[in-house]
Amino acid sequence: MAFHTHIAKQVAGNIEYQGRRLYYRNAVKILAGDEADVQAQVKDGALHTVDLYRNQNTVTAKCTCNAFARNSEPCKHIWATILVVDAKGFLQGKDNSDPRHLVGIKDEELEAGLTASGASTPVAQEYTRLIRERIVQLQRIAEPSREQAVK
Ligand SMILES: [Zn+2]
Repeated sequence: MAFHTHIAKQVAGNIEYQGRRLYYRNAVKILAGDEADVQAQVKDGALHTVDLYRNQNTVTAKCTCNAFARNSEPCKHIWATILVVDAKGFLQGKDNSDPRHLVGIKDEELEAGLTASGASTPVAQEYTRLIRERIVQLQRIAEPSREQAVK
């Protein structure tokens, strides 16, 4: 129920702030949600569609906005959706646990990963490498603040 506290330091501060504002403005409308999948619409001027998918401890996320198209990093719409997900108890998995990681992934990247058969094909390997790389980046950003949080 507190997914966002695990990953709050894994997103940029301004994204966290802007996402929270959208959340408090009730800009997020959940279209479908369960323990593994969430689809939402976020009204931020235009309407953006956010998709979240949980696989083990990691949630992959995508959004239809321009910022996400540019850099594949979790945007304010994804963050706003995650706050709703926590409030409603989605994405808790089969074992009712909080996810630990968040990874932005574009459609074409996701499709490449899903259609690749077996972990040994080059496309599947590239997909796995990409995901690992982004998770490591996020953890690296999270390190300093985790120490502060322990005190
Ligand atoms: Zn977005």
